[in-house]
Amino acid sequence: MSKSKSAESVKVVVRCRPMNEKEKAAKFERVVSVDVKLGQIIVRNPREAAANELPKIFTFDSVYDWNSKQIDLYDETFRPLVDSVLLGFNGTIFAYGQTGTGKTYTMEGVRNDPERRGVIPNSFEHVFTHISRSQNQQYLVRASYLEIYQEEIKDLLSKDQTRHLELRERPDTGVFVKELSAFVTKSVREIEHVMNVGNQNRSVGATNMNEHSSRSHAIFVITVECSELGVDGENHIRVGKLNLVDLAGSERQTKTGAQGERLKEATKINLSLSALGNVISSLVDGRSSHIPYRDSKLTRLLQDSLGGNARTVMVANIGPASYNVEETLTTLRYSNRAK
Ligand code: ADP
Ligand code: MG
Repeated sequence: MSKSKSAESVKVVVRCRPMNEKEKAAKFERVVSVDVKLGQIIVRNPREAAANELPKIFTFDSVYDWNSKQIDLYDETFRPLVDSVLLGFNGTIFAYGQTGTGKTYTMEGVRNDPERRGVIPNSFEHVFTHISRSQNQQYLVRASYLEIYQEEIKDLLSKDQTRHLELRERPDTGVFVKELSAFVTKSVREIEHVMNVGNQNRSVGATNMNEHSSRSHAIFVITVECSELGVDGENHIRVGKLNLVDLAGSERQTKTGAQGERLKEATKINLSLSALGNVISSLVDGRSSHIPYRDSKLTRLLQDSLGGNARTVMVANIGPASYNVEETLTTLRYSNRAK
């Protein structure tokens, strides 16, 4: 059976980070192998009793190992999506995975190191280079930055960081966040500044940034409006939207014996990630006419950028070490189902 149209527009790739110093020092075994040619991730069961067990093999659109370069991911996987945004289509890039596996590294990376900067700064460069080379088009670039925490939406660019914003729907424009700020940016420097402001606001309310980022979704939105004089003598406007999403950590929060507020919070995180998985797998499947966008704030908010003419890339991040094998397998199963 040929794949549905949305299946072609949804790509799932896996990236395995290197062992970190701690893991090397503790001499953890590496249980993950990456076959770049075949697009496969191979996971061995580290238990001695399972020495004869066959390894588990998962196949994806592309896979990236610990030596992968940020620019290679960009050129092969992200650039075509950003190009389609410049043509007026919507696109979404997600980083999924357990906390500590490289979601933020993939999205932001090390911004003042050209070799290690992630997809967000690379897309800034891409968009403004494209604009500077264009001749007959006028462009308007706007940036927004928001966070979803406990199913509440916060505008990371607003002066008032205590306010929660609401999702609204209009027949003409679809779903939108009411009163979300959007800043016009005219250069890489300006849009980087917007991002820095949002990042600062994000960490202000958080007593522990690591914990906070593992429990909330951060969404940076770039809207590119292009107007061009057509052969008919009329101005034509097309608008593309790029959503760059650093998801909450996918680790099973409920198993850690959380209670009260924590348990409620944990349940909500798991809910929005499973809602996302359901939306993506039903898009890929292409057979169900009902796509369950309404099941979470995240999927409702991104409704016009998931499916239809929009393109989606999900990067599933994993770690290589034996002690992470359960979470690694959970991530691979989730992403495999999304495929
Ligand atoms: P997450 O956002 O998923 O919690 P991070 O992006 O913060 O994880 O990554 C955890 C640590 O691992 C960071 O110190 C980061 O620099 C490092 N790291 C992650 N992925 C890579 C990679 N592909 N290459 C080098 N270092 C990485
Ligand atoms: Mg992170």
